[in-house]
Amino acid sequence: MIKKLLLLPLTLVLFLPVSSLYSQQSENINTHDLFKNSGEIYFAFDIGSPQELEVLTRIISISNVTGNQVFAYANRKEFQEFVELGYSYTLLPHPGSLLTEDQLRPPGSGKGPSTMWNYYPSYQEYLDFMNGFAASYPDICKVVPIGTSIQGRELIAVKISDNVDEPEAEPEFFYTSSIHGDELTGYVLMLHLIDYLLSNYGTDARITNLVDNIEIYINPLANPDGTYWGGNNSVNQAKRYNANWVDLNRNYPDPEDGPHPDGNQWQTETVAFMAFADSNHFVMGANFHGGAEVFNYPWDTWSKLAADDTWWKFVGREYVDTVYLHSFGGYFSGFNNGISNGYQWYTISGGRQDYMNYWHSDREVTLEISDIKLIPASQLLNHWEYNYRSLLNYIEQASYGIQGIVTDSVTGQPLIAEIFIPGHDMDNSHVFTKLPSGYYSRLLWEGTYDVRFSAVGYFPKMIYNVNVSNWTTTNLDVKLVPLNVGSMEPGCKRAAMVYPNPSNGLIDLYLPEQGITDAEVECFNMNGKRLLLRHLNISDEASFVRLNMGNLAPGLYLVKLTTSNASYSDRIIIR
Ligand SMILES: [Zn+2]
Repeated sequence: MIKKLLLLPLTLVLFLPVSSLYSQQSENINTHDLFKNSGEIYFAFDIGSPQELEVLTRIISISNVTGNQVFAYANRKEFQEFVELGYSYTLLPHPGSLLTEDQLRPPGSGKGPSTMWNYYPSYQEYLDFMNGFAASYPDICKVVPIGTSIQGRELIAVKISDNVDEPEAEPEFFYTSSIHGDELTGYVLMLHLIDYLLSNYGTDARITNLVDNIEIYINPLANPDGTYWGGNNSVNQAKRYNANWVDLNRNYPDPEDGPHPDGNQWQTETVAFMAFADSNHFVMGANFHGGAEVFNYPWDTWSKLAADDTWWKFVGREYVDTVYLHSFGGYFSGFNNGISNGYQWYTISGGRQDYMNYWHSDREVTLEISDIKLIPASQLLNHWEYNYRSLLNYIEQASYGIQGIVTDSVTGQPLIAEIFIPGHDMDNSHVFTKLPSGYYSRLLWEGTYDVRFSAVGYFPKMIYNVNVSNWTTTNLDVKLVPLNVGSMEPGCKRAAMVYPNPSNGLIDLYLPEQGITDAEVECFNMNGKRLLLRHLNISDEASFVRLNMGNLAPGLYLVKLTTSNASYSDRIIIR
């Protein structure tokens, strides 16, 4: 995109005087002209050091950073704040308005047995395609509502699965495109992908396997108001923001910056997609963008690496290396051979990638698949050819790692259980089972892991030395034993609360009730002498408290935990 812009005749690029010249004048007059025709503008400026991005990313919507050059969007309020910082900027033509109608929809496009997916459809055609998929393949496809946009357009996905009406003991996978309404390569590629999966089911063994073993959800258009801002007949004049001029990919709760990092209320679209994430159990996915070519993996908000950083690089490499085998002309050649840690590129706050990873135990990546945000329709089939094998590989990865069912050992009932890998999991990388099946999936880079299964009212269970290989499914069903209510001490319930056991003194004390905020822990030797008494203040939703008992002599001890409801006891061996 950058190269292309530099080739534009200079007359198309409107240079404004540096903002310092304007600062004494009314900024309202200035911005009134700028925002006369549209609620968002696109511009570029230079920074002195990458640290400046930490501030800038919370004021305007940065869409690319190359060296010290920043490309960004802003609405009027954001731009007023930006201007006060005193940067010189260059206004650029809006990326959603650079193509002619013929370039968006070449005469003769769409001809073929169904459609060739070589043009940008109208809004009504989009709806017709989505409903047509479900009507043509009712056994494996249905339209799933997500919500409605501010202007009343439909937010929808298709679900593709065998037994499409049943919740199954399978991983759920979610592709969503074009949350930025002017980044539309993924929009048409997702329609093409739906068509490809449906029309090859039952004849292509690999596709059949994917559909039989994964519940695949695909939403081609996440911000229809932005995309069809110029009218429902064409994507010409597509905008990045929604109808309130808010960047939806800065509007999510952020692990570092709290519920409203952009200072805006959650938009109608954000609320709908958050509810959709709540009512499903996605284990993996991607959201598609344009303006760069990069597999951008978590985190965006902070420099800390994800617990599964090695796995992210593995699936990213697989995506991009496969692209390299089927593309030309330096496609995906920037960054670290096409992949980047999000924060390393440029930090953002309020993105849906971090939201889905942090609050939904999901592995969602940001996939930027064309340097040009709105590519001419004549390039759509090339981009399909470059990407479709990688799109399939990436879905397939959702079926690997450790997976299984967690049940009650007595009744056989499926449980809501937490699956946690001590020494590995952090920043909410642990996962949970889902009901009604009790199914879980823990995607992992190859290696040997100790995995803890726990559920409220059950003894936690450690499974040691679970071997995981790449491109392989490790099945691990687990039965949890209900807490024994028989007394070990008068008035105490017996609970397996301590991990590891035996220990060297540093222990995790697992809380046998949910929502405990304060409690007392005591430790007795076998003669009944109390050696430790500590009052615990427990943060919300903590499932364990770490205690150091390393000053105790090796031996057998009794640990007693007293909450406002009950007392619990467990034996611990200090080595
Ligand atoms: Zn984007």
